[in-house]
Amino acid sequence: MTQTILLLDDDTLILRMCQDALERGGYRTVCLREGRALAASVASNRPSLILLDIMMPGADGLTLCRQLRNGPEPFRGPIVIVSAKHYEADKRLAREVGANAFLEKPFSSDRLLRTVRDLLAHEISVRFWGVRGSIPTPSRECVGYGGNTPCVEVHVSGMEDIFILDGGTGLRDLGRSLQRSGSPVHGYICFSHCHWDHIQGLPFFEPAYTPGNAFTLVGPAQPTAGLAAILGGQMASVYFPVGLEQFGAHLAFQEIDEGEVMLGGVQFDTLSSLHPGRSLVYRLTHEGKRVVYATDNELPPGWKARGGAAAHEVDRFIRFFADADLLIHDAQYTPEELVRRRGWGHSVWTDVLDLAIAARVKRLVLFHHDPDHSDSILDGIGTAAKQRLADAGVTLPCDMAREGDLVSL
Ligand SMILES: [Zn+2]
Ligand SMILES: [Zn+2]
Repeated sequence: MTQTILLLDDDTLILRMCQDALERGGYRTVCLREGRALAASVASNRPSLILLDIMMPGADGLTLCRQLRNGPEPFRGPIVIVSAKHYEADKRLAREVGANAFLEKPFSSDRLLRTVRDLLAHEISVRFWGVRGSIPTPSRECVGYGGNTPCVEVHVSGMEDIFILDGGTGLRDLGRSLQRSGSPVHGYICFSHCHWDHIQGLPFFEPAYTPGNAFTLVGPAQPTAGLAAILGGQMASVYFPVGLEQFGAHLAFQEIDEGEVMLGGVQFDTLSSLHPGRSLVYRLTHEGKRVVYATDNELPPGWKARGGAAAHEVDRFIRFFADADLLIHDAQYTPEELVRRRGWGHSVWTDVLDLAIAARVKRLVLFHHDPDHSDSILDGIGTAAKQRLADAGVTLPCDMAREGDLVSL
């Protein structure tokens, strides 16, 4: 089906150039010269992507973008802001109001087509930078899967923002890789909660020290302290020589609870996990694809066999994870280990498999490995998990999370 691009610009020449390029690229276009007709045009033409100029008489593109994202029926497709103004503050504002990309005028028709194609490619890539639970394990017997604590990078094709799930020690290597690109970095660091293993990489995240970069730190507040106070607290002088206020990048904090939130034009839903303190599971949805990040979640042990209240407690997770293209789930313990560690906030891998099957998940990655689990123990769990799925007659790709691994959806 031909995709429709809606263009809004008061400059007729630019409109015609964009229209020609996009129609040559196989898209249908709808052109508007002023913003008043925008909402009605979106409702009737159902565009896949909207291109908005910033400076127009009447309503400007940034205001229109915010209205599109926050209206009674929010527009969920990509929005591109185009502008002859090249101020960093405008680019930041564009991201804050929900735009996915910023094109500086003048731009070539090739550049426009590339941006639009990337944004509509619908690809999500997920890279693991830290997969270990509780404490880093730099020991020799753990190097195969990696010793860094949780950090997962999510990139959505065409989106300029990067999404980072948790800031464990894996965040340091991710930061070094981002710095090598040489381009300004901006995005969201979404914290599941503020236990040490999920925040300790932040003081070592090089891009946070670089002026021109911008990050929004997202996560649940705790009953005793807000997100900024907790993240800043771990950098208090008694613990660390550099304070949070010495970061050169632009930082914002966004406290969230259970519910839906748009970050960088991408839909995130959150659900409280079963873990001490306030802790969230994140679900990212983009163009029908779903990635769920559920670290530090203690499923009731043996919930499927026990049924009753235990199974009832798992119901909300089954609904939240339903048909996920990728589920990343805490699977820290073996059934034997749980006897001593019940109530610590982590799951047994067999219970996670049962949940993934019940939720008809399409791909499963077992995550937050126990610090006492060497590579050979993790190899054993991986093999046993595949066998259990085969015995159940279920086709579900299932892997042990490993540092450096990339999953493309
Ligand atoms: Zn943890
Ligand atoms: Zn935790």
